[in-house]
Amino acid sequence: MHQPPPFHPESVYQHPGAALPQVLAAPSRYIQGAGVLDQLGTYLGLVPARRVALLITAGGERREGLRIKRSLDAAGIESRVVSFGGECSFAEIERGVVAIRSQPLAVDCLVAVGGGKCIDAGKGIAFRLGLPMVSCPSLASNDAPCSGLSVIYTPAGVTELLEFYPQNPVLVVVDTQVVAEAPVRYLVSGMGDALATWYEARTCLQNPAGRSMLGARPTLAAAALGELCANTLFADGVAAAKAVYERQVTPALEHVIEANTLLSGVGFESGGLAGAHAVAQGLTVLPQLHATYMHGEMVATGLLTQLVLESRLEEAKRVAGFCAAVGLPAHYGQLSLKVSNRDDMMAAMMGATAMAFLQNEPFPVTANMLMEAAVAADELGRAVVAEVGDEAYRRLHHQR
Ligand SMILES: [Zn+2]
Repeated sequence: MHQPPPFHPESVYQHPGAALPQVLAAPSRYIQGAGVLDQLGTYLGLVPARRVALLITAGGERREGLRIKRSLDAAGIESRVVSFGGECSFAEIERGVVAIRSQPLAVDCLVAVGGGKCIDAGKGIAFRLGLPMVSCPSLASNDAPCSGLSVIYTPAGVTELLEFYPQNPVLVVVDTQVVAEAPVRYLVSGMGDALATWYEARTCLQNPAGRSMLGARPTLAAAALGELCANTLFADGVAAAKAVYERQVTPALEHVIEANTLLSGVGFESGGLAGAHAVAQGLTVLPQLHATYMHGEMVATGLLTQLVLESRLEEAKRVAGFCAAVGLPAHYGQLSLKVSNRDDMMAAMMGATAMAFLQNEPFPVTANMLMEAAVAADELGRAVVAEVGDEAYRRLHHQR
């Protein structure tokens, strides 16, 4: 079966002896609003698409299938449903490729409707079939919808690798009413992932050797999106979580959905990652974390560790205060980890040092340095929680 060769962004942008260029990658169009899924057919005319494969889980199809079908029918777009099994693995991507190739409808676009894994699998399928890809996220918990890369997991759910693509999704359609009706922990976790964007992009920008996810230098634009993302969360994060508890689309929720999806998505890919995501990925080697906590929750703790590592203690306090206010983990205890458990902590920090983007920090970072920063971040976070309380965290995690 014909497959395109794997895409390596560094082979495009990195040339010996030549200066590294600044590169910005983004979707061609981003559409966000309450009820926009009802206009999906009209928006697909922008691609333009006439015959689409719809990648969606069985549950997603039950919830949103009918309205999507109506909208596509009204626009005269033919569609075939390809059911998504739940894991973004090479096996699942291959299954999708085969399902689309073996049906009589010659599709000209792939539309993925669902969470981050469904969208990431959609990107892998679209790349292999040479199709434009459209993201319709049903959650604001992750950076998948706008980026041109996928996190590939083993069928058992452990991170395997990042796969890069030459194009970002051509269109991103975010129905904020759908996001408002999802469990609030997804939105809050997305805030943890999004908040780190600015601090990681700044580290990459300020380090002349820093590189974005594109293997290039960050643009000022990407860093500015990251900074706006953080400021938006500080201003509207608490109100947005409240809106989702009440299943209401409010201006604060709209702002935070944009921060979690667009500002963070473009900001991280073109701005670059650093210590926060290295620690978050390192933590996934601990099976108890990987099964119980969401990506953004681990990133929040990773961010605190990064800020302590960089000796930015005032910012770390502000971030810990924000985490406590919205219900993100503000210390390692809120990820069910004891920093005194050296074996677990060291395994996670060794995992973190294996992440290439840890090298975006302005000095070489060892597992011992991360360990020390984690212990200090834990102490700082506990002090902040002792001051402001842990009510938001307990409400989110159903503890009394
Ligand atoms: Zn992330």
